[in-house]
Amino acid sequence: MPEKVIIIGSGPAAWTAAIYAARANLKPLVLEGAITEENRLASTLPLGQLNLTTEVENFPGFPSGDMTAYLDSAIAPETRQMMAPHKKEGVSGPELMELMRQQAKNFGTRIITEDVLEVNFDVHPFQLAASDGKTYESLAVIVATGARANYLGLPSEEQFKNRGVSACAVCDGALPRFRNKPLVVIGGGDSAVEEADYLSKFGSITYLVHRRDQLRASKIMADRAKNNPKIKILWNRNLGEVLGNDKTGVTGARLTSTVGEPDLSVEATGVFLAIGHTPNTAFLKGKLELTDKKYIKWTTPARTYTSVEGVFAAGDVSDDYYRQAVTAAASGCMAALDAERWLAAKGE
Ligand code: NAP
Repeated sequence: MPEKVIIIGSGPAAWTAAIYAARANLKPLVLEGAITEENRLASTLPLGQLNLTTEVENFPGFPSGDMTAYLDSAIAPETRQMMAPHKKEGVSGPELMELMRQQAKNFGTRIITEDVLEVNFDVHPFQLAASDGKTYESLAVIVATGARANYLGLPSEEQFKNRGVSACAVCDGALPRFRNKPLVVIGGGDSAVEEADYLSKFGSITYLVHRRDQLRASKIMADRAKNNPKIKILWNRNLGEVLGNDKTGVTGARLTSTVGEPDLSVEATGVFLAIGHTPNTAFLKGKLELTDKKYIKWTTPARTYTSVEGVFAAGDVSDDYYRQAVTAAASGCMAALDAERWLAAKGE
């Protein structure tokens, strides 16, 4: 018997899709990805990008700090005593992912810790060949394999990841280690400018390091960087090495020149890479319509439909623009509802 719905992925989009599909009695099977050295090196281990971050302060419902104290002080005692007790302090990325995964399991989601290597969408039920050597069949498929931030591939980047090296200022920028300290952002697109602008609220000075003498960012964004007194743009430079030590993490960056100038070292407690993302769609090449940046194309506005009827896409794998946990979760919910309605219309 084929599955009713298989969900590929294990970030907020995948688990939200699983929660909704399970509650709709579709008995979803999640192929969450394999735990392999290859996936670790590519930053594509199960639980996705959030599992690689620390505190999450912008997911609604999880304020940072002592939630119990906050609820005790903010809610009238007669209402408070009716609420279930809660003993937690904010939430971290890995915690949030484990909680979502458990929530999906609680509703009966089955999980297989394997990669999908190949899909066949020319037949129905669809066929998914996995890394355990098995072929899984399903009437509907939700692809939520996410995207991964690009890094330059320097050993020093790897060494200091989560200790000052990050690819998400919005996720990590407000952490204490970055407060009132010099920071470095690498890149020249809208993301780099946005990240530098965001970080300038926390850091003492933010160096925006770009490999050319002109930003790729839109004019309005570029002007924002140029007019921000707390952003200093370093033109024609790239990251040569993240400087730091085991005790304190990142202490600075050695910047190479792209026009033959000598290297420049700057002090910094954070180095943020903003050189684009790569969607995890290699296994879908030629199987689903992708954008020119290799993201899955939504073929109908505000629907999670793809170029193959019965295959839906959610989260960062189909979004190169918002890329937030909460937007991914939202589109995971949409994909589950779209799949449920599509199956119902087929009489399944
Ligand atoms: P992007 O536009 O592709 O820019 C990537 C930047 O990283 C470019 O400046 C590029 O340099 C640089 N880069 C790439 N590889 C590099 C390397 N190996 N070494 C050094 N630098 C490297 O990506 P993005 O900024 O993430 O934006 C993605 C999309 O989202 C865009 O369409 C953007 O407009 C959109 N976005 C919009 C907003 C907004 O409107 N608020 C915010 C964020 C993103 P070169 O310029 O030399 O190629």
